[in-house]
Amino acid sequence: AGTLYVVATPIGNLADLSDRARSVLAGVDIIACEDTRHTQKLLQHLGLRKVLLSVHDHNESERIQQVLEHLQQGRSMALVSDAGTPLISDPGFRLVQALSEHSHKVVPVPGASAIITALSAAGLPTDRFTFEGFLPHKRGAREEKIRALVNDPRTLVFYESKHRIVETLAVMQAEFGADRPAVLARELTKTFETFYRGTLASVSAAIQVDADQQKGEFVVMVAGHDNPPTAGEIDTDTLFKLLLAELP
Ligand code: SAM
Repeated sequence: AGTLYVVATPIGNLADLSDRARSVLAGVDIIACEDTRHTQKLLQHLGLRKVLLSVHDHNESERIQQVLEHLQQGRSMALVSDAGTPLISDPGFRLVQALSEHSHKVVPVPGASAIITALSAAGLPTDRFTFEGFLPHKRGAREEKIRALVNDPRTLVFYESKHRIVETLAVMQAEFGADRPAVLARELTKTFETFYRGTLASVSAAIQVDADQQKGEFVVMVAGHDNPPTAGEIDTDTLFKLLLAELP
C-alpha cells in the first residue's frame, strides 16, 4: 500500500510553510492539487519541479481511481489545496475516504488553516466552537442556516468571500442581534491583515465606511448565545400551552 501525504500550505505568508511540508513535497512523486497553476507558483518558490494532478470538486470521483493506481504502483503522493489545509472547505474528503477504505496510509502534514489562525487571535471563547464553513449563496437558505444557530452557545466560525461579506454581516445582525459580540479577521498573514473586534453592528459599520476594507478574504467569528434557553424550559412552556388549549 502507498502513502498519501495531506500537506497544509500557507494562507498568505509563504514563510508559514513548514520544513516538514517542504521536504515531503520535495520527496513525493506526484502532487494532487486543486489548481495546477496555483500550486506551480508555490513549487517555483520552493525550487521544485513535480508532476501535478488536478483534483477538484468536479472531477474528484474520476481522479480517485487514478490516485489508487499510482499508489498501488508504489508511487508516493501529496495532496495540497490552493491555500491552507486540504479538506477544510476544500476538496479531498472523498479521496481520503476512498484511500482509507483501500488500506492506503494517509499521513497529515499540518500547517496553516484560516479557522484556527483566526480563532487564535480573535479573543472570543475557544473552549467550544463550531465551524460552519461557507454559508449557502441564496439569501433564503443563508437566513435559515443562521437562524438555526441563534441559540447555539458555542463560538460560531464562518468563511466568507469579498462578494458577500457586507450582506452576510447584515443578515447576521438581523438574526443574532446588533449587539452580539463578533470578530472579523481579514487577510490573515498577509500585508493588510486586520482584526475588527466589537459587535456585529460595529464590525459591519467598520468595513462599510471604506470599500478597501471589503477586499480580500474573511473569517467571521460570532460569540455564542450567552444565556441560551434550555430544552427543559422550552418543553414546560410548550407543554403548558398545549394543555391549556385542551381545557374545555
Ligand atoms: N483550506 C483553507 C483553510 O484551511 O483555511 C480554506 C479554503 S476556503 C476555499 C477559502 C476561505 O478561507 C476564504 O474565502 C476565507 O473565508 C478563508 N481564508 C483563507 N485564507 C484566508 C486569509 N488569509 N485570511 C482570511 N480568511 C482566509
